[in-house]
Amino acid sequence: MLKMDSHIHSKYSPDSSSKIDDIIKVAKKENIDVIAISDHNTVDGTSEVIKKTRNTDILAIPSIEISSSEGHILGFGCEENIPRDLTPQDTIDRIHDLGGLAIIPHPYCFYRHGLLHKTDHKDLKIDAIETKNARFIVGYCNSKAKKLSISERIPELGASDAHYYKFVGDCYSLIDSQKDIDSILKAIKKGKTEAHGKGTSNILLSKYLFEKKILKKFD
Ligand SMILES: [Zn+2]
Ligand SMILES: [Zn+2]
Repeated sequence: MLKMDSHIHSKYSPDSSSKIDDIIKVAKKENIDVIAISDHNTVDGTSEVIKKTRNTDILAIPSIEISSSEGHILGFGCEENIPRDLTPQDTIDRIHDLGGLAIIPHPYCFYRHGLLHKTDHKDLKIDAIETKNARFIVGYCNSKAKKLSISERIPELGASDAHYYKFVGDCYSLIDSQKDIDSILKAIKKGKTEAHGKGTSNILLSKYLFEKKILKKFD
C-alpha cells in the first residue's frame, strides 16, 4: 500500500507560505510515498515539486485546486492551469480532457467553498471525494462525506490540506497501487483507497496560522 497526501498547499497559494523543500522534508519524515501540491488556481508549486522529487523515493503527482463558480475542485493529475470561476461541470470536463481526476475536497464544508454543500453530486461526473480532510476532522463535514462515499460508492481519499508544512501527512490515503502516476489514478478511480489520519490540532492550527500570520486569509 502506498501512503499519499494528495492535497498540500505551498507558497504559490495566496494563503500559504510553505516552501517546497520544507514540504518534501516533512513528507520524508512521515514516510509518505506520494505527494501532490494542490495550490489554489496554479500549477507553479506542482511543477516545482515534480522537479525537486525527480530521482528520489517520493513520487509527486501534478495537481491544482480550482475555484469553480460553486466551490473547490482538485484537478488531480493535471499539469496545466485550468481557469477559475467556470461552472463545476465545465471545470470537471477540462480536468478530464487533461487526463486528470476530479476530486472534491472538503465537500460539505460550507465556509471553505465545499462544492457539494450547494451542488448535488449526481449532476457531476466526480471521480473521488475527500472523506478525511485534516482541517475538519471534528464536526459533520467529514462524516457526511464518508456517508456519501459509502452510500454512492464514490472513492474516498484522506488529505492534510496543509497550508503550513508541519501539517503535511496529518490525514492521508493508503492506496493499493504500483508507484507510478497512471496506476495510482486508475486505483483511485476503482476505489482501491482508504482514508486515514487524526487531523490537524485546532490549537496548533490557530497558533501557526493566526498568531504567526501565516494565513493572509482563511481559505
Ligand atoms: Zn479548498
Ligand atoms: Zn486546499
